[in-house]
Amino acid sequence: MGEIIEENKLTGLFEKIHNKKYDSTNCFLCGTDLNDKNRTDEHVFPRWLQTELDLWNQHITLLNGTTIFYRSLKIPCCSECNNKYLSTIENNIKKAFNGGYEEFIKIDENILFLWLVKIYYGILYKEMFVLMNRAKPDDGTIIPEKFIKDMKVLNLFLQEIRGKHRCVNFKPASIFILKLQHDDTDLMKWDFADRIATNFLSIRMRDIGIIAVLDDMHTTKDVCAIDDFYKINLHPIQFNELCAIIFYRSLLLNRTPFFASVQKEDQEYVETYLHPLQGFSAKSIFDDWDHNNFKESLSAFTGYPLDELLKNENMVMSWIHDEKMNVKEIPIREYRFTRFDQEIKGD
Ligand SMILES: [Zn+2]
Repeated sequence: MGEIIEENKLTGLFEKIHNKKYDSTNCFLCGTDLNDKNRTDEHVFPRWLQTELDLWNQHITLLNGTTIFYRSLKIPCCSECNNKYLSTIENNIKKAFNGGYEEFIKIDENILFLWLVKIYYGILYKEMFVLMNRAKPDDGTIIPEKFIKDMKVLNLFLQEIRGKHRCVNFKPASIFILKLQHDDTDLMKWDFADRIATNFLSIRMRDIGIIAVLDDMHTTKDVCAIDDFYKINLHPIQFNELCAIIFYRSLLLNRTPFFASVQKEDQEYVETYLHPLQGFSAKSIFDDWDHNNFKESLSAFTGYPLDELLKNENMVMSWIHDEKMNVKEIPIREYRFTRFDQEIKGD
């Protein structure tokens, strides 16, 4: 969603980012050439998580509709990035995860941000392989410009894992951590969704639910009043409704963030500054909420048929609110759902 509009040329970092080849010849993170000595595979969904939640033999659906085993979702990585930088992040997340929700909410938000960007970017990286293979000049297929721009911005943010980047005057993401009910069945203990329209992702892992918009400059979180839902243990379907609300809200943001990135002569890292989002316009930075459009998002995240979601002109079906807009609580044993969202492409 964002765009880097100014940068100085002191550093080779930008060159690496702009000339990035999305293939297996170089490290997805630092871009170094890979050979027999330094080549490793980075699991997009970390091994420890796949073991904890029995994901190895489960599938994830990519944007082009193909399904792939979680265990096969790997990207090329050099041994230094893998063993030195990424494993530090993983150890932090794993420790927090093992402590359950109460420990997880204490996690350094920046570490969580980098972990989420790595997963999201990793999936897009894999998608990029497919798109690149398809994008042959003679058949007119092209990779959308937005996709390339987003990859560059996310790649820049990711460099913080290696200590090569800092966001100076802004938080890049909106991140929500919610407490969930769960049990040992596949559907109740794990779910993942992503949406490239706003670089959105959501993860349900046991009692921890994470919803993130990775480059909205914290704006969605500023306007989403969901405080009531931090107080209850959400049913997974309620979490999915909140995903729909937050995703739709992020779609309404009508500004493009612009950044300036600089590296000073005595610094090892690049600093990025955000230009004021509001700019000179007095217009709200979000477009108006429209129930009719929102219900598409709700249907995609809950799997509920579109034509049954609109109760009347002003009311969409809800699992989180009753008719008087009080917060609902739904015990997990009382409401089961079957597979949702798999067949529906939400973008
Ligand atoms: Zn590397």
